[in-house]
Amino acid sequence: MKEKIYTIPVNEAFSEDCECPLCLLESKLEREYIDYYLGPSLMEPDCRIDTNKKGFCRRHYELLYNRQENRLGLGLITDTHIREQLGKIKDAAKPLLQGSDGAKGSGFSWGSLTAKLGSKTQADSGPAANLLKLLLELEKSCTICGRLEYTMDRYLDVVMYLWSKESEFRQTFSEKKGFCLVHLRMLIQATEKYLSPSNRKEFLRVLMQQQLEHMDRIEQELEWFTKKFDYRYNDAPWGNSKDALPRSIQKLKGYCDLK
Ligand SMILES: [Zn+2]
Ligand SMILES: [Zn+2]
Repeated sequence: MKEKIYTIPVNEAFSEDCECPLCLLESKLEREYIDYYLGPSLMEPDCRIDTNKKGFCRRHYELLYNRQENRLGLGLITDTHIREQLGKIKDAAKPLLQGSDGAKGSGFSWGSLTAKLGSKTQADSGPAANLLKLLLELEKSCTICGRLEYTMDRYLDVVMYLWSKESEFRQTFSEKKGFCLVHLRMLIQATEKYLSPSNRKEFLRVLMQQQLEHMDRIEQELEWFTKKFDYRYNDAPWGNSKDALPRSIQKLKGYCDLK
């Protein structure tokens, strides 16, 4: 049996009526991590090692700051993160400050460097390339995104496990309304890791059948939402369409903080 700390939340999320059970799991986790990084643990050395190194992405800095709680704590961890990164940036910038703008005599050009970094091939060596690499890494790194990715992978493992072993869960799964496209992609990727080839085939068949059925459904609900702006439909009932726009956005991009 898989660990209960993962199976309980998975079963709970799949028992809710929603556009994507994995969005429920991820948004709950995200709230817990925001609480954690604003709580007392933020001053613990283990936690600081991670936040000093990775910091947070734009979304997570925004969520942390907008809570308007423990701004001193957030200020302190941001300060030590800046200090650590500034040390690295200063080191990387040293040759540039001395007037060297790229790899010596190797036909360095900014255009080719950016193109190469963009296509993730081996970048030119040299001081500008080192600095760019550092900045790109920093842009992508986030303590909370890293933890979300890890735990969501545990949840996906559990979903596949329950689906393979428990007929009751398999039934529940087939009655869902599909997933957002982000979590659909994660599920499809996880099948390769966690399902046997024959289970994978059946899982993907059920998954895509349900996904397409419910994307058709939500598209129709959204269309009816737009029609309700036409005076001719004034008196017609809304049906399920009143909140079809935020649900459609979630279906496309995953949960977001729409007001
Ligand atoms: Zn989702
Ligand atoms: Zn993040």
